[in-house]
This record gives sequence, C-alpha cells and structure tokens, in this order.
Amino acid sequence: MAVRKVLLYPHPALKAVARELAADADAALIERVAQDLKDTMASYPGCVGVAAPQLDEPVRMIIVDVTGHRKTTSCHGLMVLVNPTVVRAQGQEVAREGCLSIPHLTANVRRATTVAIQAQSATGDPVEIETEGFEARCLLHELDHLDGILFLDRVDSLSTDVFRRKTYR
Ligand SMILES: [Zn+2]
Repeated sequence: MAVRKVLLYPHPALKAVARELAADADAALIERVAQDLKDTMASYPGCVGVAAPQLDEPVRMIIVDVTGHRKTTSCHGLMVLVNPTVVRAQGQEVAREGCLSIPHLTANVRRATTVAIQAQSATGDPVEIETEGFEARCLLHELDHLDGILFLDRVDSLSTDVFRRKTYR
C-alpha cells in the first residue's frame, strides 16, 4: 500500500489523455493503482475522489466515495472504476467544486445532475452506476481528469466563478 504524492496544477501530466486498461494484460497495474487510490484518498480527510493521472499514473482509473459527506443524496459507497464512460447525462446545475490538484481555489462548475456510467471493477467485472446530485458531480469531475480536463476548464467565467479557498473541508 502507498499514499502517493498528488500532482499539482499546472503539472503537464494533468493535461494528458490517459490510456485505457486491459483487464488481463494490466491486472497487476490495476491492482496496484486501485490500492494507491484508496490509500491516497484516505490520507485526505473529507476527500471524495481521486483520479489515477493525479498520482502520475496515466491510466483510466478513478476512485469516488461520497459516504457521509454533507452534500450527498445518492450514495454507492466506495467505487474504484476502470475505463469509466458516461452513457447518459441529463439536467444541469451549477455548484462549487474543489480539487486536490488545485488546492487553493474552488469554482462554480456547471454539470449534469443525473448520470449513468459504465465501467469495469478493479477485478474486471462490468459495472453500471446510475446516480444523481453530488455523487454524479464527483464522478464527472474524476472522469474529466482522464481526459486532461480540470474544473477550471469548465467554469463559465474565470473572473466571477473562481474563488480563493477559505476552508479545507
Ligand atoms: Zn480533481
């Protein structure tokens, strides 16, 4: 197990498109990155998600766990997802987001309110998740990291929708 250093903006690796994983050929890598994602998330109190590229692993893996967060409505517990894709997204809402890779800023970001996501589990089983609200937002935020997109890329206005962080929870 390993708590990994999280890359900070503007590290160029955060802007890269991550590669897809193969359940068989990449089995050892998937197992290691899954554990590193869990250990790293657990080392940040209040953290609800991390993407592999933030750990300098350029592969399509994310972890999300909104259990116990005050904004949580729908909750699937701890999810480690391999090759996740959005198969359906509906609605839109603007809400505040933060990111371990941009620790001193938050921003108002417009995202879908309801999503369906297909992926594989860390052991290669197919997974489909339908969720909404804060959990949907967290999944979409982490999925963006796999395509080199940061929340600052999604704000309507850099002058009015970006804020210096006052608290870290
Ligand atoms: Zn992030």
